Amino acid sequence: MESPTLKINEIFFSIQGESLLAGKPTLFIRTATCNLRCTYCDTKYAYWKGEVKTVDAILEQVKTHTPEYVCVTGGEPLGQKATIALLERLLQEKYIVSLETNGSFSVVNVPKKVIKVIDIKCPESGEAESMAWENFELVEPHDQIKFVVSSRADFDWAQGLCTEHKLHERCTVLFSPAYGKVRPAELASWILDSKAKVTLQVQMHKEIWGPNERGV
Ligand code: SF4
Repeated sequence: MESPTLKINEIFFSIQGESLLAGKPTLFIRTATCNLRCTYCDTKYAYWKGEVKTVDAILEQVKTHTPEYVCVTGGEPLGQKATIALLERLLQEKYIVSLETNGSFSVVNVPKKVIKVIDIKCPESGEAESMAWENFELVEPHDQIKFVVSSRADFDWAQGLCTEHKLHERCTVLFSPAYGKVRPAELASWILDSKAKVTLQVQMHKEIWGPNERGV
């Protein structure tokens, strides 16, 4: 059978900067293209630029790094059908596989063993209307729902959703400050003052390599 193809922006080995896997040496597969246009996007270079590769060729490239952890990220991975085949193959090869998705596509076909990190876009991202809300029902306990918070209004909105849908009972909920818009200390104090059942997350890779470095 012919190997399915995906448009890939970059493949690189680095330290995971986000999620509960932050700090783990990880092989990243960044798919090209994204259907959203968030106000704070730091991966605009992935909107168009990429090379079409077969899943077989991607697997070969991954193997050369002998990673333990593999993260499929974007752009938006679920915008390309063959991402599901890629995830299945990565699991077959026994990698610990995570998927970072922007929350606008249903995760219904993502294999259960994949650790899903699902964004919920807050109003100041400009994309809050684009969410696939059914994803709340499709998370596993090892998954993570992530809110990038750009203001106090975003924080209150996200908190409201967490309470209404009891998200902390479904999986880990991450609150991350939008870089340059909310200071980590500010978000930390909002979380503590409101006793929010969430996990504060800062983008570790930006602390390590600086905010504008690519391929890290
Ligand atoms: S979903 Fe991610 S890649 Fe797409 S516009 Fe938003 S921040 Fe950028």
